[in-house]
Amino acid sequence: MFIGAVADDLTGATDLALMLSRGGMRVLQVVGVPREGIEFGDAEAVVVALKSRTIPAAEAVAQSVASARALLAAGARQLFFKYCSTFDSTDEGNIGPVTDALLDLLGETRTIACPAFPANKRTIYKGHLFVGDVLLSESSMRNHPLTPMQDANLVRVLQRQTRRPVSLIAHDAVIGAPETLERAIAGLEGIGIVDAITESDLRAIGRAVRSLKLVTGGSGIALGLPDNFRTAGAAAAPTAITPAPGRSVMLAGSCSLATRKQIETALAAGTPALQIDPMAIVSGALKVSDAVDFVLAAPAGRAPLIYSSADPDAVARVQGQLGRAESGEVVEHFLGAVARELLNRGVTRFLVAGGETSGAVVNALKVEALGIGPEIDPGVPWTLTRGAGKPIALALKSGNFGTEDFFIKAWDLVA
Ligand code: ADP
Repeated sequence: MFIGAVADDLTGATDLALMLSRGGMRVLQVVGVPREGIEFGDAEAVVVALKSRTIPAAEAVAQSVASARALLAAGARQLFFKYCSTFDSTDEGNIGPVTDALLDLLGETRTIACPAFPANKRTIYKGHLFVGDVLLSESSMRNHPLTPMQDANLVRVLQRQTRRPVSLIAHDAVIGAPETLERAIAGLEGIGIVDAITESDLRAIGRAVRSLKLVTGGSGIALGLPDNFRTAGAAAAPTAITPAPGRSVMLAGSCSLATRKQIETALAAGTPALQIDPMAIVSGALKVSDAVDFVLAAPAGRAPLIYSSADPDAVARVQGQLGRAESGEVVEHFLGAVARELLNRGVTRFLVAGGETSGAVVNALKVEALGIGPEIDPGVPWTLTRGAGKPIALALKSGNFGTEDFFIKAWDLVA
């Protein structure tokens, strides 16, 4: 194993796994802290998907360190800590505390932090993170319910979370001679936020961090990592995925703008769809069996869609009645139960929209590990379950990812 990665959420882990797979590595994604005795097979990179972005820092540290120990024990030569390209965190963590703990575990004193992902319009200049054309602090992340990002200066943001010094490796060094960047990294004391605007910047940084024991960042920075370990030719990127024969379904719990547009497009194209209302779940008017029956009754040929996605006003009304966390749980629990029952009834292909929703479905299906298949859109591959049970195809989409025809074109890649 060359790269052992710990990701702070599920769809982020998949995004990273895809990046490493595109770089020609055999990648295995593991869900949750690896259990004792787990087999990583012939994987050159293993990505552990935690759900540690917004849990208390001490728990995030404990899970990340336990995962890192398992990866190191299996021979990982470099550790990677993956977080969101919008640096989702609070002054309490968890990016700083986890980075500190992993450096301590390795007995190292320096690493970089680079969440840039130009393909998804996340760039860093003079230490400031931009989302599209605006500063992070002026983007919609400003109002995120759990991790509101109100300061775009990542040196300042990270310094509030770590006892190690945080400094900036500016763009001049990134685009200069390779030795300049390598010297800047070798001279780091503590953690260096690294400017990056283009994919060529990310490749240069990827090359320059080859001797670091720990790298931290978004999935973009993984663009340049596989080349550092390449001995033979790259594995060819998969072009299709072949799950066990069975029916298909789409489950959407994301209320993001991108997902709502994707649903509109799918409905316009004639996708059989059932919208579920959280209040109807709570009142008992809508049962898991209703959704399951709807899917099984849909004509073969086009994957049916079950969705709870609603606009912000509707979500606010439900949250007003049930509470924020409770309404999320009601929907996640319902979609998880629908997924489990559909698996029992012969569905083997699941497309899921929403980070938390994906986590709920993967838990309900008791998925332990995933192999990475073909890319549907930047950051979203088809995956195939590994381990006991028949191989199931899963596409796990972070709410904001994907083009408007995602729910249609994704199926072209499934055998
Ligand atoms: P994203 O990736 O877009 O953030 P998530 O699945 O992570 O999507 O989060 C969406 C959250 O909203 C989930 O907890 C989900 O259960 C909840 N949710 C989905 N539909 C509704 C709804 N109609 N009303 C209230 N909450 C909802």
